[in-house]
Amino acid sequence: MAIAHGFRWLLLIFFIIVAGCVPPPEYLARTGKRIGLDNDYIKVLLLKDQLKVEIVTTAKTKVTQLNNNSIIYNGDAKRFVLFDNQVLQPMQFETWNNEIQVSGITVRGMIQLHPVVGKIQVVNVLKMNEYLYGVLPSEIMPGWPVEVLKAQAVAARTYAYYHLMKTGATYFDLDGTHNFQVYKGKMVETEATNKAVDATAGVIMTYNNRPILAYFHSTCGGKTTDDKYVWQGEDLPYLTSVVCPYCKNSPNYSWQVELTLNEIYEALVKRYKAVGKIKSITLGREDTRVTVVKIEHANGLIRMSGNDFRLMFDIKKIKSLYFEAKQTPTGLILTGYGWGHGVGMCQWGAKEMAEQGKRFDQILMYYYKGIRIMVYSMQK
Ligand SMILES: [Zn+2]
Repeated sequence: MAIAHGFRWLLLIFFIIVAGCVPPPEYLARTGKRIGLDNDYIKVLLLKDQLKVEIVTTAKTKVTQLNNNSIIYNGDAKRFVLFDNQVLQPMQFETWNNEIQVSGITVRGMIQLHPVVGKIQVVNVLKMNEYLYGVLPSEIMPGWPVEVLKAQAVAARTYAYYHLMKTGATYFDLDGTHNFQVYKGKMVETEATNKAVDATAGVIMTYNNRPILAYFHSTCGGKTTDDKYVWQGEDLPYLTSVVCPYCKNSPNYSWQVELTLNEIYEALVKRYKAVGKIKSITLGREDTRVTVVKIEHANGLIRMSGNDFRLMFDIKKIKSLYFEAKQTPTGLILTGYGWGHGVGMCQWGAKEMAEQGKRFDQILMYYYKGIRIMVYSMQK
């Protein structure tokens, strides 16, 4: 009896601890989703607008029609080829947690096929931690110190939860490209990155009890920047400029590139049909970043944000918005610092901080201001 009584108390204490880690009920009610456990499922748009999809499984496979939950196949077949005119309703392929290959990509979890405007959209539905296993190696070097891998795992998980909770009634939460964060499935997984995901299971960053929009980038070049200087209309309180003396060892700490007038004209003419011969280019700057670019041409004036200007070219051309430009007879010589948008965690800086003995939570608190790091999950 005494033992049972003690056990009950232990349970009560356990529930108090767990309850203490859960966000306020009004937030959960508003989002309608459970936060925290890495058992939460996420829907990743893997392939868009396919005319043909080939699914190869390694075990018994169940195919369900999602609109009425009817099982349309349950057996030992291992290969399924479907064309766009055969996928008229959303369907799901399940192989009881065995790996599954879809058009050459090996993934964990389940595959859903959704017909949208006559084409097949391929969605991978899997647990949050399984998704992160396939994200980390694409977003950071798996050979880097453990604490920076853990910081990256928390940033990627937080970023995913932000989108998981933001999306309304749609068939996917985010896609697997640079539009969100890169996800390449099971093929890229490494032991070190999987361990970092497991070691931080359930850990996310919050601001006002909500998962933050945890942007990260390769190298800030000496100072990160406020999101308002990169994306017009955005100004999140935890994404402010931070001096970063840590990323000097990055191969992209500083760079120089020539941008010819011809390259600029070719990029402009794709967007602005009436563009004439370029006369002058003026840059406006705030907080180290080029925020506005004015181009005077024979037929008028184009004004665009620095970010829009940068993204007109190949992503490796203008590596960041932290640059100065010198005019030459043929174009511009850009001298710049860092690689990426410069908002949130600087990965090369985080690596150096880890090498200097900082823990993952100290790294995250440095790059995201006023946040809380919360453990929602008790499973690990
Ligand atoms: Zn940095």
